[in-house]
Amino acid sequence: MAAVSSYRARGIVLRRTKLGETDLIVTLLADTPTQLRAVAKGARKPGARLTGVVGLGNEVELQLHVGRSLDVITEGTLVASRADCVREFERASLMEVVLDVAAELTVEGEHDERMLPMTRAALGAVSTARTGLLAYVAAAYVFKAVSMQGFRPVFDACVACGAAVDPRAAETVRLSFEDGGVLCDDCADGMRGAMRKASTLAWASSLIRMTFAQITALPEAPDESSQGYEVLELAREWLHHYPGIRPRALEFVFSAGAHTL
Ligand SMILES: [Zn+2]
Repeated sequence: MAAVSSYRARGIVLRRTKLGETDLIVTLLADTPTQLRAVAKGARKPGARLTGVVGLGNEVELQLHVGRSLDVITEGTLVASRADCVREFERASLMEVVLDVAAELTVEGEHDERMLPMTRAALGAVSTARTGLLAYVAAAYVFKAVSMQGFRPVFDACVACGAAVDPRAAETVRLSFEDGGVLCDDCADGMRGAMRKASTLAWASSLIRMTFAQITALPEAPDESSQGYEVLELAREWLHHYPGIRPRALEFVFSAGAHTL
């Protein structure tokens, strides 16, 4: 009995929810299971030892004690801090998009060992990328994360017949969220999907295949920031087709105008 009463977990802080007067419920993207929630007692008291450790986006190593409903964090060590991201509004907003999408697309107690390394790489890119590339990083994260859940969007072949579709060779391409990707001219009978700007789909197609290191190394382009937000808007629409998945941080980016900075 005593052998299973405490355990260690390593992961990234996705959400912090107030509990009572001074406690926090911390949602963690962990190694195993993928998502876990635990109480950080007294973490909202000024000067509390856990306060700086369980900051949003931080990677932490925790010692936990099995509780009756939620487990309790007894010790915490900071592995990597994202305090640098929190200081800039746009960087902080897009970091929260990554964290919120991770929280929405993972389920407590489920096992998926690919999400933690992918999210760690995305957060590394959010903290180092130049401002103009931040939206590309967030959009890439959304498309990579839905792909890991088994719903990889198809942007370079017709989802109905498999014929090659090159969004780089056209002005507009027909896209059907319901069907999971683009449609060729023969299959697009005017009934399904809607015409979309081909350049946005071409970017989405590239971002799924690129590593975060490749994205942060993209050469500077004059319209990169607005282009990045167009791809992120597409990623947001893509998520709208999943019932119950609504990352509030992503809605906030478009409602609060972080993208117009
Ligand atoms: Zn077709």
